[in-house]
Amino acid sequence: MKRKLFIGGKWVDGREYSALYAPHSGELIAEIPQADQDAVDQAISAAESVQAELRRMPAHKRSALLAAIAEQIAERSEEAARLIALEAGKPIRTARAEVARTIQTYRFAAEEAKRICGETVPLDAAPGGEGRVAYTTREPLGVVAAITPFNFPMNLVAHKVGPALAAGNAVVLKPASQTPLSAFFLAEIAQTVGVPDGALNVVTGSGSVIGEALVTDPRIKAITFTGSPQVGIEIRNRAGLKRVTLELGSNSAVIVDRDPNLEEVVPRCVFGAFSYSGQVCISVQRIYVIREAYNAFVEAFLRETGKLRGGDPLLEETDYAAMIHPKETERTLEWIREAEQKGARILCGGAAEGRILPPTVLTDVPPEARVSCQEVFGPVVLINKVDSVEEAIRLVNNSSYGLQAGIYTNDVRTALMAAEELQVGGVMINDIPTFRVDHMPYGGVKQSGFGREGVKYAIEELSELKLVAFKR
Ligand code: NAP
Repeated sequence: MKRKLFIGGKWVDGREYSALYAPHSGELIAEIPQADQDAVDQAISAAESVQAELRRMPAHKRSALLAAIAEQIAERSEEAARLIALEAGKPIRTARAEVARTIQTYRFAAEEAKRICGETVPLDAAPGGEGRVAYTTREPLGVVAAITPFNFPMNLVAHKVGPALAAGNAVVLKPASQTPLSAFFLAEIAQTVGVPDGALNVVTGSGSVIGEALVTDPRIKAITFTGSPQVGIEIRNRAGLKRVTLELGSNSAVIVDRDPNLEEVVPRCVFGAFSYSGQVCISVQRIYVIREAYNAFVEAFLRETGKLRGGDPLLEETDYAAMIHPKETERTLEWIREAEQKGARILCGGAAEGRILPPTVLTDVPPEARVSCQEVFGPVVLINKVDSVEEAIRLVNNSSYGLQAGIYTNDVRTALMAAEELQVGGVMINDIPTFRVDHMPYGGVKQSGFGREGVKYAIEELSELKLVAFKR
């Protein structure tokens, strides 16, 4: 029940502990050590002391370690999924999908570890560059701090730990307070497969204490953060010259043009809106449907949403469960009430049933309502009518966020126009913004952050380019 910190390859007691409760049942599931300044300091020292070894480690060895992590997770995949379901309240089938992706992410990292390379630079393109040859290499940065959110406690950790180790860095991982068990699970596996002591350290506890210590320590060379914009901006402001990658929130939208194939589009949009109760950074929050298709779309959407079942996340039949914390449910309900006061109509959901907030569909939502212009991060979607795709694009872009957007259209010119005009990090043509596979470049613009993940791209963020120039 009492867990330990993982520092320098050893399991270490905390000075203080905090109770961890399951979001859905409210039961006590573990006692979690709360790392203090000293523990963080030890973790950074351990990471620093293994740096030289990691730097010298040949690519095939780094690759083999990452492949072994992937295989261990695959062997223990059901255990991993149940852990996620328990600590994050994620329905078990969705948790299994996360584990499958986590395995892929480490496999991609194992593959990319072998392909970290530079290019030759034709120096004689500049007068005075004659008689010289130059090439670039990529070197590890050193110690990387990884700070992760609760909503994908394994795969978003994999998106940081995988590329960091692939590039030869050591990692101090600070998982979200609600989901430390997935991080301890990874540490156990790292130990089993022989990741060198100190190459991965897990420090759990409050974000403000550990975060502050990591962000300000000069031995940390990069901070890779996924979480809310408020925290991300705070980190950036205090990080000084450290490399910073920020994967932040969004109020992602999808546009539905005329003649949609409702049988394909609607189930996909329902999945995008309500998977893990909308607690996904690229969850479908806003749907803009062209006037001619609107009524049929809404009707089909409600029918499809009605098929979803709420309940215990550990049961096979469950599609949605309680949100991560009762205060998040309260906040979401308050935003729904505000939208209603501003003229929105609630077509389904909109009231809690016990601990669960069921899928909520709103229409006629004005853009200034928080469920439209801010990140809901809950089981709420709005479906608004538009007269043209151009109008829909203006509405999508009228947001402080820009992570991904989607458009369903049968017209290639409209698709290309949307691809050019949408102000986001990724445009999905004929799919929802929620589409992601783990090797594609992924990240946002505006308040959705900067820097890219997707293993190869994260390796670029977590390594330093060096130029070597020879004069003949
Ligand atoms: P959060 O509250 O921002 O927390 C994220 C992490 O930051 C947690 O580990 C948290 O620790 C830590 N933290 C809190 N305060 C800190 C501080 N002052 N300094 C350093 N670290 C600190 O986010 P969340 O509620 O876990 O996750 C939801 C958010 O993540 C949403 O906005 C979502 O869109 C975003 N997200 C983005 C992506 C993406 O790829 N773009 C993916 C998933 C989620 P504690 O848990 O101890 O507070």
